[in-house]
Amino acid sequence: RPVVGVLALQGDVREHLAMLTGAGATALPVRRPAELSEVDGLVLPGGESTTMSRLLETFELLEPLRERIAAGLPAFGSCAGMILLAREVLDGRPDQRQLGGLDVVVRRNAFGRQVDSFESDLDFTGLGAPGETPLHAVFIRAPWVERVGDGVEVLARVPDTPAAGDAAARIVAVRQGSVLATAFHPELTGDERVHRLFVGMVRDRVPA
Ligand code: GLN
Repeated sequence: RPVVGVLALQGDVREHLAMLTGAGATALPVRRPAELSEVDGLVLPGGESTTMSRLLETFELLEPLRERIAAGLPAFGSCAGMILLAREVLDGRPDQRQLGGLDVVVRRNAFGRQVDSFESDLDFTGLGAPGETPLHAVFIRAPWVERVGDGVEVLARVPDTPAAGDAAARIVAVRQGSVLATAFHPELTGDERVHRLFVGMVRDRVPA
């Protein structure tokens, strides 16, 4: 089983640990540099990206994590985790720190301008055969992706329905190499497919 960590400074850590275990990984909370060095992949959970930025500095994880991501550590960010992985943040705060890894520009609290929380069924590329059950997505003060670089694959967009309003067609899931990010929270809905996708990405990189 690949060893997958969950950054455990703040946010919905426990839910990700449970989903990763169900998806076939050995899941570990990561709070220290020594723990970071034990993992083959890392999940950055939902929570609050500026709080997590501050805690990354306090726990001396910011630089080690930047280095590991630059060296190819598979990483999956949900919501606040997506914000941390992005190259650039719009509507961010001055104390916001970026880990790099994803050549995207995200807008923080983008959905919050209309509603704090929003749910939608998404077509998500790579989760199975076309026509398979759509992915139910829960957005909580979520970002969306405003721009993607050349190497970034768009995996999901908000469907164009009246309920979506301004959010229609916005990009909400992306992948670049071994970095995956969703604006929503797949750890909250009991559907393990996104975690299985990520564990597969980690497994593909772990030397046999
Ligand atoms: N709005 C939060 C932030 O800016 C993210 C919310 C979430 O992770 N559910 O970090």
